[in-house]
Amino acid sequence: MSYELEHVEKECLCPCGKGRIVYGWGTNDWNQVREGMIEIWCSDCSEKYKLSKGGLLPKEFPEYEGDKDAYNEMYKLRDIVNNYQGYYGIRFWPDELIEKRRQLYLTQDEIKEDQNNNLERNFAMALGFSKKLADDFSLEELKEVQRQLTESKYSTQLVGNAKDIAERYKRTYKTIKVSKVIIPVNMAVRNYKAYKESDKEDKRYIQNAKKLLKMAQSIYYKDFEQYEKNRKSQLIPFELRDVRSCND
Ligand SMILES: [Zn+2]
Repeated sequence: MSYELEHVEKECLCPCGKGRIVYGWGTNDWNQVREGMIEIWCSDCSEKYKLSKGGLLPKEFPEYEGDKDAYNEMYKLRDIVNNYQGYYGIRFWPDELIEKRRQLYLTQDEIKEDQNNNLERNFAMALGFSKKLADDFSLEELKEVQRQLTESKYSTQLVGNAKDIAERYKRTYKTIKVSKVIIPVNMAVRNYKAYKESDKEDKRYIQNAKKLLKMAQSIYYKDFEQYEKNRKSQLIPFELRDVRSCND
């Protein structure tokens, strides 16, 4: 839904002098606010010009267009780099690594069950849950939790980390059954070393993606300097001035 600039904070005359260029804020039909809007309030000038960084440009002046392939590459890589910052959970595992890791982390029985019953989402969730356990606890702690879960019949018997993990499990899965909680704990113990390896693998993967992104950018922006030179030569700068509020 479009926003309408309703409150002008700054303005100046348009190039032909019959209208104004205005800056301010506005709302849409849902009363959401958008700040920093800028518009040409002149029918002649808005037909002739468009807004550009630092001024107005003739409408027909083209946008910068670099190498198409490099652009697509940049788009893909930026997505990867942005999604990987922070927590390297299963949801952010690289597409090309998910299948490899599924094979690595799930037992043959789990993979079979996964395929037969279409439980992919459940296993993806269980993997994600157990990966987080490996992030938050040491292997020794998890082994102790595993021991408690193996020896306990009821969740009320659990103490310490085991109790905390059971409660965490309940928040995600709405059940605290010992026989259920033990599934991702077993997974975390079983895959602990592999999860740590995957963290390193992810870091390398991201570092490489960042490097490739820089390369794609330098290809894409190869002619940008020349473009900017041309753009600036056509640019009609304007200077907005504060509008005195009616309440002053
Ligand atoms: Zn005008």
